[in-house]
Amino acid sequence: MRKPLVAGNWKMHGTSETVRTYLEKFSVPPGLTEEREFLICPPFTALAAWKEHGRSKPYVMLGGQDAHWEEKGAYTGEVSPGMLRDAGCAYCIVGHSERRAMFHETDEMVNRKMNALLGAGLTPVVCVGETLAQREAGETESVLRTQVEGGILTSKGRPDLSRIVMAYEPVWAIGTGRTATARQADEACGFIRRLLREALGEAAAASVRILYGGSVKGANIDELMAQPEVDGVLVGGASLDPDEFSRIAAYGTGR
Ligand code: PEP
Repeated sequence: MRKPLVAGNWKMHGTSETVRTYLEKFSVPPGLTEEREFLICPPFTALAAWKEHGRSKPYVMLGGQDAHWEEKGAYTGEVSPGMLRDAGCAYCIVGHSERRAMFHETDEMVNRKMNALLGAGLTPVVCVGETLAQREAGETESVLRTQVEGGILTSKGRPDLSRIVMAYEPVWAIGTGRTATARQADEACGFIRRLLREALGEAAAASVRILYGGSVKGANIDELMAQPEVDGVLVGGASLDPDEFSRIAAYGTGR
């Protein structure tokens, strides 16, 4: 059974004061904390504040938004998987489309980061997704295949998919207010799972959690989470509002 994961990516937003006030408002109905996982990925500089103020909400896990693949060294501005673990992180996003587009992150880099995170005992959240031009050209599946093969399947040995989270994030839906339809999300997540099944077998593919991300909000979460291939969501903008993210976290309860 794949435990649903509701993840928030704060991107470059939030200070220690934001964290304090956010935690006063964010809440999850009792009972859901056993059956779902909740994750917040704030900027690195707010991790310590979350560790300090987040004791009241121990069911919320912490994640980084990126990591270098080396453990230490002359890499100015970077943080390593071990440093994230030290800061209280259990997860880390890799290959976010903003990093691919703005910071030239390649599938090879994504793969190195993913393996380094696994080696440090963190769960990578590996993002893949096509641009609008690629979708309109009918290239969605070939783009996803390239990203999954280059980002995950090139690993030496068999990557343990039960320790990896994938996120299907169509670039055209990120921060645009334009959400993929529930059907598009389900089809793409199903396609990613099929690629993993073909390469690593049924049991491995059944163990991986595949999230949808792209303009998720309280108004569309129920329909997205009702799709069989969607195991959770990665939420950007709407995760910055504690009331909205509380609604998303409580999907399916009518809250
Ligand atoms: C994201 O940052 O991963 C994301 C999906 O953003 P948004 O929800 O704002 O589209």
